[in-house]
Amino acid sequence: MKIRKLASVLLFLVALLPGFAQSKKSPLQISHLTDDFYVYKTFHDYKGQLISANALYLVTNEGVVLFDAPWDVSQFQPLLDSIKAKHNKEVVMHFATHSHEDRAGGLGFYNQKGIKTYTIQLTDAILKKENKKRAKFVIPNDTTFTVGQHNFEVFYPGKGHASDNILVWFDKEKVLYGGCFIKSTEATDLGYLGDSDVKEWAKSIKKVQAKFKNPKYIITGHDDWKDLNSLNHTSKLVQEYNTAKASAKK
Ligand SMILES: [Zn+2]
Repeated sequence: MKIRKLASVLLFLVALLPGFAQSKKSPLQISHLTDDFYVYKTFHDYKGQLISANALYLVTNEGVVLFDAPWDVSQFQPLLDSIKAKHNKEVVMHFATHSHEDRAGGLGFYNQKGIKTYTIQLTDAILKKENKKRAKFVIPNDTTFTVGQHNFEVFYPGKGHASDNILVWFDKEKVLYGGCFIKSTEATDLGYLGDSDVKEWAKSIKKVQAKFKNPKYIITGHDDWKDLNSLNHTSKLVQEYNTAKASAKK
């Protein structure tokens, strides 16, 4: 009896662990980063292979700010519901960090929900040209926001993964949200380069490194982000790519 009791107590404790309810197969995985920051992961079927995408949200006393949308249309509403259930707050702002679907795919949905949506001009121009849903607000390349008790800076470093990629920097907490501009240390190549400028990418990374010193957390667009060497790793992948390209030309 004692052992059975112990087992049920253990089971009860395990059930209380955060994240227990979210199995590895859950289509929406939310994890606490630090302070008021949460990283969430969704999955997209890309040519028969499930690829994950990371995004971020920030809980403020004026509501929740969402950085990028799920890469899964079926999770747009569940994300809002999970945030409401977890924090008892509404999402009030949404930023898309470039025009690709894994970032900007939720603009139409979040517009409809009355959430204030934002992109920079470069992103807006691409979305307009491609006849896609656009943000309600177009912001300058470098803009600082204050929402409740939090400040953050939206920054366009120049071309990289995409011609319009932006990053978000939270200076107080030293959180750098990189999106697809920063590759995970797990990445062995630069991934999709259809809209990239790999030459400029090298310069753009230097700008980010010079501007945002000593990040404590760097969130990459895909794969594992816990290794802080991701920005250097991206720089290395970019260099390797450019060297290979230069030698191929000879
Ligand atoms: Zn992209």
